[in-house]
Amino acid sequence: MSPVVPFSDLAAMTREIREAVDQGWERLLQGSRFIGGAAVEEFEQAWAEYCGTRHAVGVANGTDALQLTLMALGIGPGDEVVVPSNTFVASAEAVVLAGATMLLTADDLQAAITPRTRAVIVVHLYGQMPDMDALSRTADKASILLLEDAAQAHGATWHGRPAGSIGQAGCFSFYPGKNLGAFGDAGAVVTADADLAKRLRSLRDHGRVAGSHYRHELVGMNSRLDALQAVVLTAKLARLDAWNEARRSIAARYRAAFASGPIRLVEDEAGARGVYHLAVARIPDRERVRQQLTAMGIETGIHYPIPCHRQAPYVRFASGPLPVSEAAAEQVLSLPMFPHLRDDQVARVCEAVFEAVTAKEVQIA
Ligand SMILES: *Cc1c(COP(=O)(O)O)cnc(C)c1O
Repeated sequence: MSPVVPFSDLAAMTREIREAVDQGWERLLQGSRFIGGAAVEEFEQAWAEYCGTRHAVGVANGTDALQLTLMALGIGPGDEVVVPSNTFVASAEAVVLAGATMLLTADDLQAAITPRTRAVIVVHLYGQMPDMDALSRTADKASILLLEDAAQAHGATWHGRPAGSIGQAGCFSFYPGKNLGAFGDAGAVVTADADLAKRLRSLRDHGRVAGSHYRHELVGMNSRLDALQAVVLTAKLARLDAWNEARRSIAARYRAAFASGPIRLVEDEAGARGVYHLAVARIPDRERVRQQLTAMGIETGIHYPIPCHRQAPYVRFASGPLPVSEAAAEQVLSLPMFPHLRDDQVARVCEAVFEAVTAKEVQIA
């Protein structure tokens, strides 16, 4: 039985851009230049402009965007990078793949910095941006680099500055389910630093010397953005602001509906304008509420049930228990959120959540 309200629905977005993609792919197939070329350059330029930065380097996925950025900055064995534990595992994975170790902290960047710390990866989780002024000050004072994992925050802003444009580099994933999603894997790094952009372009293409086919100056990877995906991303970029606006108004309706109740939606910091990649509520009795919602045909998700420092390969990098991340992992529940979610569906979710949460209170009493 299909759900009354699905968690996500990519098909409606695909329909909106179908014609532009068909035309773009038709042109591409005629020229048959599938790696690099005008389609990739056009998207890179548009994405840099959208993010308010000078350069955008398309890569194969968001994890590579992070890993290549660390490589390009010379961060590797012996270095430490501070990463939050309540995030998608790729934020931490990239650090370990680059050969650096990570220090995990609940909230406090300052407390996590040691003489070996080279960088912090700030994750704009759920599409929300934290206090970037405070984080930048702390990073500057400690002379460490601030990098942004903006994989969930395409178009989010901090005092008007787009996600990805505040740190030394901003890393994006265009995985299909992200706010700006390709028809497969894709990613990009944005930066104002021309040297960094140049190193990234070389590293994503086997460390090639720019303009040379046979000379290599770095040990790189194969992590290029496909031209087919660049066409999709260019078509979707034209719709991104409207889709983000739709997500915000759905979030506003959830927020209003829950205003009097015992559950709260994860909210914007003052000064931030989120893009609600996910609509996350904190619910103490999460598992029971989730089961009840499922029974009522409401699909939900959990982001994320196991914090990174409890995942086997990363246990050894945690410096101790992380009560904030652990509590979040037990309580977070992601409600249906996608631009084409209808008003009547939002209303169904609100009613169902209210019913499920109230049932719990009756049970306790
Ligand atoms: C999706 C995501 C990534 C990884 O992106 P991929 O394109 O899947 O490699 C990294 N960090 C966060 C926060 C993400 O949500």
